[in-house]
Amino acid sequence: MNAHGASGTPGTPKLPARETWRELYRHFRPHRWTVLLGALLTLVGSATALSQPLATKALVERLGGDQSITGILLLLTVLVVLGTAVHAVGSYVLERTAESVVLAARRSLIGRLLRLRVPEVERTQPGDLMSRITSDTTLLRTVTTRSIVSAANGSLTFLATIAMMGLMDPVLLGVTLGVIVLIGGSVGFVMPKISKATKRSQEAVGAISTVLERVFGAFRTVKASGAEAREAAVGEAAAQEAWRHGVRSAKWQSLAQSSIGLAVQVSFLAVLGIGGARVASGDISVASLIAFLLFLFYLIDPISELVDAATQYQVGSAAVARIVEAERLATEETGTGSAAVPGGPARVAFEGVVFRYREELPYVHHGVDFEVPGGGMTAFVGPSGAGKTTVFGLIERFYEVTGGRVLVDGRDVRDWPLGELRASIGYVEQDAPVLAGTLRENLVFAAPDATAADIQEVLVKARLDGLVERLPDGLETVVGHRGSKLSGGERQRVAIARALLRRPRLLLLDEATSQLDAVNELALRDAVAVAARETTVLVVAHRLSTVTMADRIVVMDAGKVRAVGTHGELVAGDALYGELAATQFLTVADAGPAASAAP
Ligand code: ATP
Repeated sequence: MNAHGASGTPGTPKLPARETWRELYRHFRPHRWTVLLGALLTLVGSATALSQPLATKALVERLGGDQSITGILLLLTVLVVLGTAVHAVGSYVLERTAESVVLAARRSLIGRLLRLRVPEVERTQPGDLMSRITSDTTLLRTVTTRSIVSAANGSLTFLATIAMMGLMDPVLLGVTLGVIVLIGGSVGFVMPKISKATKRSQEAVGAISTVLERVFGAFRTVKASGAEAREAAVGEAAAQEAWRHGVRSAKWQSLAQSSIGLAVQVSFLAVLGIGGARVASGDISVASLIAFLLFLFYLIDPISELVDAATQYQVGSAAVARIVEAERLATEETGTGSAAVPGGPARVAFEGVVFRYREELPYVHHGVDFEVPGGGMTAFVGPSGAGKTTVFGLIERFYEVTGGRVLVDGRDVRDWPLGELRASIGYVEQDAPVLAGTLRENLVFAAPDATAADIQEVLVKARLDGLVERLPDGLETVVGHRGSKLSGGERQRVAIARALLRRPRLLLLDEATSQLDAVNELALRDAVAVAARETTVLVVAHRLSTVTMADRIVVMDAGKVRAVGTHGELVAGDALYGELAATQFLTVADAGPAASAAP
């Protein structure tokens, strides 16, 4: 994986303006009434502050008239306290709503990302996807709440002030608007730059997550390769990139903000000049000019609010574009039911299966045909890259076939409800992933309803009972990130126990290429043999000991099934199998001469 490619997850085309509106509105819509409530409360809070001068006037008048001021002072105090409280509540309501917008966006993204189709995840960088959930969603906070209030407030006050100015002198209003439109227009050019810089900055944040995810995913390898400094440099470069674009966005934002001051100052000078001439010619009075200038300064606030809202909109649009990209990745519908479906051992068949992982990649399966009856153990063997693991991926329907059919119990996997199909299958991946958490959590991961007796039973089957007894915390032992506190063999056995606990009708076992010690291997073989009595076991075999106990062996080479039979039959009848058996399957991956010697 190229860490620099991180920001390319998945392509980042610009969202059309209409769609940006629609998307932002979608996030705002459920909260529109709360935002209105928050806006009203802050408005009322601010309005009570305005009534203070009136109360003060009344107070001063009473001072002259020898009247008691206690009542009015009390009223003033109550007014101040009430106003502040109402404003605070309004602020709280707005901030709370902002958090709710972020929560809703995060929840929907988390839900979707966990349902992504496998090929979609392989196209993307998980670190970048994570940062869309954690970081990009926070940028929705302001744009969907406070800046909407600002925009509404700003527009109203702006229009009211403009109307007043128009009443004073339409000519001077024309001058003022001319200057504002001129400077405002140039600010308009800056706006998209804010969005672009924000998006770049967020992409760089995604790249940081990608680097970290990659490093922590192979932490020991990073250390053993002495790659700390190099990986840190990649992460730091991404951080620097985030800073660079963050600073650029800040530059455009402050330019936009300060240009309001400029617009008002220039308008002031223009109004002063032209207004002076109009006073001299007797068109308006000095008082009108002064009042007009005062209104001009009142304009600063609403324009500030409008520019602020527009700036936030740019930031939000950058975020929403990245969120939408993540939301548009294809998901699959597994339904809620993951209960085991009753029935005996499952039958599996491939009929002329043609498959490639992506359109631009070469075919992996060139017409794979085989049939496995219910029950018993079937081993898949063949040189590395023959397409054995891919068979499992197609049965689980992680990928869709390009041609042909995959049948489970005679039914095309595409016709199975996905949840039901997967509930019938227990899958042990080659690298036997163990998740962070406790041993128990890992065991019941595929069967959350397993009882203590069930767990004990599989512990014995997978020869994990001894380990659990030795551990001070037993099943509650925390296994570390990716099970790093367990040995490789223990991880494999945990993965097998997890799959068995699901009581699958079909057990897919992708045998690890690494060797278990003799005792453990024997134990596992027993466990698999026992399982094969009540379920169909398919195993991608890398060990001679595994194939010799299989009821049938499917020999695969270069994306095709070249022979099916028992060990005895194949040793005599298939040259490639003979070679593989001769090398004891120990070095399948490097068995270049052996493999290529096959016809
Ligand atoms: P091994 O014995 O080494 O595990 P295998 O027979 O199980 O090999 P597969 O894992 O099925 O082989 O892979 C078959 C081919 O498909 C390989 O050339 C591999 O590079 C390619 N391949 C496997 N997984 C993917 C994937 N997710 N995306 C793209 N190509 C893939």
